[in-house]
Amino acid sequence: MTTIYLDHNATSFPWPEVVDTMTAAWREPHANASSQHRLGRQARRVLDDAREELARMLGADASRFRPDRVVFTSGATEANNLAMLGLTRFERGRVVISAVEHPSVSEAATILAGRGFEIVRLPVDAEGRSDPDALDELLDTPTQLVSVMLANHETGVLQPIAELAAVCRAHNVPLHTDATQAAGKLPIRFAELGVAALTISAHKFQGPPGVGALIVKPEWELRPLIVGGFQQQGLRSGTESIPPILGMLAALRKWEAERDVLAPRLAERRDQLEAALRAGRPGIVIHGASAPRLPQVTNISFLGLDRRALMIACDLAGVACSTGSACASGSSEPSPTLRAMQVPFEQVASALRFSVGPLTSPLDITLAAERILLCCNQLEKSSGSGKFVGEGP
Ligand code: PMP
Repeated sequence: MTTIYLDHNATSFPWPEVVDTMTAAWREPHANASSQHRLGRQARRVLDDAREELARMLGADASRFRPDRVVFTSGATEANNLAMLGLTRFERGRVVISAVEHPSVSEAATILAGRGFEIVRLPVDAEGRSDPDALDELLDTPTQLVSVMLANHETGVLQPIAELAAVCRAHNVPLHTDATQAAGKLPIRFAELGVAALTISAHKFQGPPGVGALIVKPEWELRPLIVGGFQQQGLRSGTESIPPILGMLAALRKWEAERDVLAPRLAERRDQLEAALRAGRPGIVIHGASAPRLPQVTNISFLGLDRRALMIACDLAGVACSTGSACASGSSEPSPTLRAMQVPFEQVASALRFSVGPLTSPLDITLAAERILLCCNQLEKSSGSGKFVGEGP
């Protein structure tokens, strides 16, 4: 039995074109881009071109005069940490983050709190969306930074980022957005969004793990987290690893060229899964279903069952899914996103996330739905072991 992988939001697998691009780049020696000699200058040019192309693909300003800064990082965790800790200019102040941020934003906020910053959570409604008017009110008190994600990793629900950014601009406060789960699947237009900074990570869009970027408008001062060299204008020291950066570009290039076909295909598979599960278990609850959301992910409560028992049963039955974000699921905490959406606790305790990829086929979905439904039935029949086992709220 082959496992059907429905956990693409945790990580996706690199496209063959991406592997080919990286293989060619590993074979062709790249000197250190900081070296003064000709080979060093050549490597530097490869990086400069990559930065410019990435900026263009993400709708950022790649012109010669004060372009948006593209800082290559080890992924979204580092990019989010850099935004949170690097865009807060003063020693004390106030930072607003949405109530559904990824731990790489919320834990960075905890560090700021330890340094004396006041951290304020922008609430979300029952669909998981923040209200620009609520942010407007919060920003009547002087604030140094706002961070609200473009799309949630657990539900796929999109935030009204352009509206939130307009509010931030009116108060002259930078808005950072974590676009990790949205990049590729949605067109990202940095300039049109009007944000100050934006995070991406290659392994979420069929690129390699271990590489990502933070894009930052030139008017906002960014202080580095990693020092000790002059690479990347001193914003992120350390010798750049060129092949993964080229792999990230190859992956995004493919999304740009084929998004019109790929994104609807993802939505079709996601909808097929939801319909099949609903047909078999009419009582399921799909979170954020009526909000605008990403095409590849669905978050579903199987009432009366325990999410951890069901996830393990699905794994044994050949369906890989998750109980929340991969980063949070190690700790097995009930979903912070669903709790912030005020989802009743029994639903939180029985929620699983399924995320499809460009190669997920209709047959995969048919088989996965059959297996999931079978697991639900078996858990229900078994002597209560799979039942809701009372995680305290
Ligand atoms: N932000 C979001 C929304 C994510 O889903 C993830 C990955 N779970 C991250 C940040 C961290 O990404 P990375 O693995 O590239 O550090």
